[in-house]
Amino acid sequence: MPEKNTLEIFKPWLLERQTELLVDIIAAREAAVAAAAATGIDATDVNDLEDQASKRERTTLQDAEEQRDHDELADVQAALARFTEGSYGTCINCAQPIDFPRLEAIPAAARCLACQRQWEASRVPEAKASWI
Ligand SMILES: [Zn+2]
Repeated sequence: MPEKNTLEIFKPWLLERQTELLVDIIAAREAAVAAAAATGIDATDVNDLEDQASKRERTTLQDAEEQRDHDELADVQAALARFTEGSYGTCINCAQPIDFPRLEAIPAAARCLACQRQWEASRVPEAKASWI
């Protein structure tokens, strides 16, 4: 079982990753707003702008990348919240310690490998379907 002190090494990584993802997401949003402005759409709601821009300007790949950034940001922020709670490194499903090599590979991992596989198998594979 990894020591709490050892797990602390992941915190700066998570904080840095959070910043990177926020920068990416803000840049993508600004690009969407700029694209919408360039097409003469006058709307103040950013989500509207994103919807319209995504239909007009952006590729499915860019949308998928942005969605992945959002998903990863949610994972990273949840991991940071678990640091605050003191539950970081513990599987949110079975409460067993997550293997250290798994955390090294995926510091934002919320589940041990066994629970992650079960969880992925139980999900509706809509996210994956859009990749095909
Ligand atoms: Zn588990």
